[in-house]
Amino acid sequence: MQRKINILIITAVLTLLALASIQAYLIYNTYELKKKAFLNETKDAIGRLDDEAELVIETAELWGQEFAELLWEYRFEDLKKEEFLAALRSDKDSVSKAFNKLYQDEVKKSNLGYNIQFKKNIYSIVILDSVVNDTVFAFNEENPIFVLGENFNEDEGYRISQARWQTDYTQNDKEGVARTLEFLVMTRDRMNISEWKRIVLIRMSGILAGSVLLLLFVVGLFYYSIKNLIKQKKVADVKTDFINNITHELKTPLATLSLASKSLKQREILDSPKAFENTLGILDRQNSRLQKLIDQVMTNSLGSDELVLNKEQTIDTTYFKNRIDDFALSVQSQDLTIQRKIEPKEVILRIDTFLFTTAFFNILENAVKYGKESIEISINTRLKNNQYEIEISDNGIGISEKDLKIVFDKFYRVASGNVHNVKGLGLGLYYAKQVIDAHEGSIQVNSELNKGTTFTITIPVN
Ligand code: ADP
Repeated sequence: MQRKINILIITAVLTLLALASIQAYLIYNTYELKKKAFLNETKDAIGRLDDEAELVIETAELWGQEFAELLWEYRFEDLKKEEFLAALRSDKDSVSKAFNKLYQDEVKKSNLGYNIQFKKNIYSIVILDSVVNDTVFAFNEENPIFVLGENFNEDEGYRISQARWQTDYTQNDKEGVARTLEFLVMTRDRMNISEWKRIVLIRMSGILAGSVLLLLFVVGLFYYSIKNLIKQKKVADVKTDFINNITHELKTPLATLSLASKSLKQREILDSPKAFENTLGILDRQNSRLQKLIDQVMTNSLGSDELVLNKEQTIDTTYFKNRIDDFALSVQSQDLTIQRKIEPKEVILRIDTFLFTTAFFNILENAVKYGKESIEISINTRLKNNQYEIEISDNGIGISEKDLKIVFDKFYRVASGNVHNVKGLGLGLYYAKQVIDAHEGSIQVNSELNKGTTFTITIPVN
């Protein structure tokens, strides 16, 4: 059974892990899809902006004009290539500033709800010539020339479009001769939305929250089911133990009864009145032992609300002195010492003496049953804030911490089975607790393995 539960737990954990991984994978895919959709949506909006916002288009064309003039100077005047490239890479603030402002205004007008940064880069410049083309700037993926917009980091943005355009530009030289420059340029436009992660996550919040809740729900369900299973297994174990114990307890008297009744049929026994009497005595004792066992199961199984208390007044000193003496007398041939320290002030207790004594004796009997060779029991009672406290300590084998919580459970015996070789049904402490509860009191236990155990009973004093 334990193996089955372990297999179930491992399977449940593995299933949960698989489920969580599949969910993580699906969420990641959804995230990628949403991101793509979001970027496409933005690209469309920017496309519309590029087509419709005339002022933006006009400003953007300004850079083209400046660029063509510079390139013309390089081709037909004495501007060196390095100087041309340096001029191209130099500050583009004036045009860019005007452009950015117009661009942001248009973005706002389009009601997208977030900011977009835009930039244009040149990736290659070639001057076309009928004799030989001049590659002024060879294709450079890593270090393009920024020409317009906001110069954000390359790896932060997304490419919106790529253009390869061929055009010409004519200008008069110093002598007044018109010279035409033909060139091929490759540009790429990029956009950057600093808030895109937040926006995509907000759009996914429903799915995210749903899957986290679902996962938590499944974890909870697994946890609850396994916990219940373990609890049921414990109850089943306890019941099996009880059946084993009671069968064991019944076996001896039944076997003796059977032997005694068989011997009654023998002529020698029938002829000897003494032997006959002896055998009848055995039958009688075994019969009452069986009766006692059954009574124990019947009465000791009662819950606190089923117990009917017949309270009477009794003085604590007399009550404890008498009961402890009775108990000491009943334990024969044992190395037993009982120390007692009863509250010096006389206290009148209102208890059901019969039931309370059974509970008290159950605890004392345990101190003997689970004691070592030499048994020392100490009983201390005291009055504390209208509560009468009875402390019973022994120097026995003790109870482990994990068992302490459940020793009062019905049929519970430590280390299931007859490990201690001590007879019992696991009802003594259960019954003691029911009796104390019926008196509106409480019972607590403290223990240390191999050192001893202390039970503390508290009952109210009216
Ligand atoms: P039983 O004695 O019939 O087994 P109880 O309900 O009286 O049942 O006790 C439950 C279990 O608690 C016992 O099986 C025993 O292992 C443990 N126990 C009770 N009292 C003591 C004690 N004084 N010292 C050590 N173990 C104890």
